Amino acid sequence: MDANKFMALAFEQANAAEKAGEVPIGAVVVDARGRVLGLGHNRNRERLDPTAHAEIEAIRAACQNLGQARLDGCDLYVTLEPCPMCAQAIAFAQIRRLVFGAYDPKGGGVEHGPRIFNQSSCHHQPEVIGGIGETEAGSLLRAFFQARRD
Ligand SMILES: [Zn+2]
Repeated sequence: MDANKFMALAFEQANAAEKAGEVPIGAVVVDARGRVLGLGHNRNRERLDPTAHAEIEAIRAACQNLGQARLDGCDLYVTLEPCPMCAQAIAFAQIRRLVFGAYDPKGGGVEHGPRIFNQSSCHHQPEVIGGIGETEAGSLLRAFFQARRD
């Protein structure tokens, strides 16, 4: 697993989101052999869709790519701890391993809030690795929200 390489791809997506005026979060789905199956970044404004988060976009692209509704054996890299909705989607997709950048104490649903993977209603628990590229992910988001307040 080349975590830094895939996280760099996720950051490219986050930057693309920022350029488009979307919240700068990016994600990538990779199969067991290290093949990139799906890329995604937040597109809520573009798609007029509150569910168009980076993880959902990357999962949809990967499923289309494989022609199946599950991504077992695949890993998902995302620049920020997934929200509860995306955490549940990751479980539904049977993602093998989730690697995320910054922790999100306010909106995260993996290590914070509802801790989706620990719920009895959640039937698949991916391996979770947090804090990869945390500093970069955090400063990207802070800069974005600061610019909006000014
Ligand atoms: Zn989400």
